[in-house]
Amino acid sequence: MTRITVAKGDGIGPEIMNATLAILQAAGAQLEVDEIQVGEQVYLAGNMSGISSDSWDIIRRNKVFLKAPITTPQGGGYKSLNVTIRKMLGLYANVRPCISLHPFVKTKHPNMDLVIVRENEEDLYAGIEHQQTDEVMQCLKLISRPGCEKIVHYAFAYARQYGRKKITCFTKDNIMKQTDGLFHRVFDEIAPTYSDIEPEHWIVDIGAAKLADTPEAFDVIVMPNLYGDILSDVAAQIAGSVGLAGSANIGEECAMFEAIHGSAPRRAGQNLANPSGLLQGAIMMLNHIGQAEVAERVQNAWLKTIEDGVHTYDIYKEGISQQKVGTSEFAQAVIARLGQQPTTLKAVSYANSKALELPIYQRKPAASKDLLGVDVFVHWTGTDPNELANLVGQLATPEVPLSMITNRGIKVWPNGFKETFCTDHWRCRFLPENGEPIDKKTIVRILSKATELIDS
Ligand code: NAD
Repeated sequence: MTRITVAKGDGIGPEIMNATLAILQAAGAQLEVDEIQVGEQVYLAGNMSGISSDSWDIIRRNKVFLKAPITTPQGGGYKSLNVTIRKMLGLYANVRPCISLHPFVKTKHPNMDLVIVRENEEDLYAGIEHQQTDEVMQCLKLISRPGCEKIVHYAFAYARQYGRKKITCFTKDNIMKQTDGLFHRVFDEIAPTYSDIEPEHWIVDIGAAKLADTPEAFDVIVMPNLYGDILSDVAAQIAGSVGLAGSANIGEECAMFEAIHGSAPRRAGQNLANPSGLLQGAIMMLNHIGQAEVAERVQNAWLKTIEDGVHTYDIYKEGISQQKVGTSEFAQAVIARLGQQPTTLKAVSYANSKALELPIYQRKPAASKDLLGVDVFVHWTGTDPNELANLVGQLATPEVPLSMITNRGIKVWPNGFKETFCTDHWRCRFLPENGEPIDKKTIVRILSKATELIDS
């Protein structure tokens, strides 16, 4: 028996959760359920994060959370509950299978069957942004070695457990050589330890084009947060319907499972919604807690239901579908097929699936660090870089002269082009000519000269 936390959410949430729990129970899932309230009512009661501290305690105690979609109220100030839960619980892996159900659900890609493993905590989503000047905003892209190692190991261990043969890594390391470069390098380091799985790497732009055009060429794709956010929606959509996909958010301690769609408020309370997305999340949950046999029974019964043409309104098509049903009738149809296998669609086998066993991150010995120069960022509204060079050149010390000025990453001094467009945000780099490390006190000297210059 596994104790889980359940939130029925808002809009269509309660209907699809009740349908999902009815199917799990009929299939023999060994679950004890603690229900919590999250979402709209909690937000409107004045809690800006949509979740109370008692609910946090229950989620952290049970460690496994099945969550229906919630409504984030319109207007400012409300924090996204999903982002909060992901960050607070360290749910670093977002796993989204995208499988087409041809010929029963319309898709241009009948043979698509892939899983996107998205890094969930880092990248531009660290939420560290600054206004630098009047004209320039900055968002820091953080990619860490532990973050990369955890997600890449997760992707390989997932592929091995679910019998997948190939993992593709998407990055843009031809441009972001340090951040995406680290992600790619860690992928290359870890790949040989899973010799049964073929690794490959694509630059994300052409990789995304290939994914949209020929998704059947991919098996598992692992990528940093932003690319994963965008491309996991593209993949779910081209598989046939965003309404059919579930996702898992996995951390070292806790995990959260859900549908990828929202609370569809206009469909609420009418017994119309398709519970399949949440059911797919629940099946991932059963595998995660070691109830693989039940997961397999539910998935095969669900595939048979889709194959028999028992469809909710969102996937119903004259000529393909046999019967248009509501949420609870769909659940009853799945329950009636428990123990059956699909005949056209591929039946699944989840023999011995369980929570993945992953190595604990080992910090590498500290690298040696030298201070080689100083970058001073200047908010300056002039236009001629030579003029700025004369000004900030006064900050230099005899050993550490001004060596270069850039504007949005483009060198504008010395020998800049007058055609280069410049904003009010300038990076002035001070470097010794001999390339030798410099003293930390140089930073203080340069900055105190800068304040003197501003004051004069
Ligand atoms: P949505 O996913 O709720 O709806 C988009 C469209 O898909 C609508 O036409 C809807 O009727 C349809 N749809 C979605 N799920 C369906 C299902 N199971 N069966 C049949 N049709 C379905 O997206 P939205 O309208 O942009 O957002 C509505 C609310 O959901 C917003 O408050 C948003 O913040 C929230 N939201 C929550 C989550 C979450 O909790 N994980 C995710 C996305 C959006």
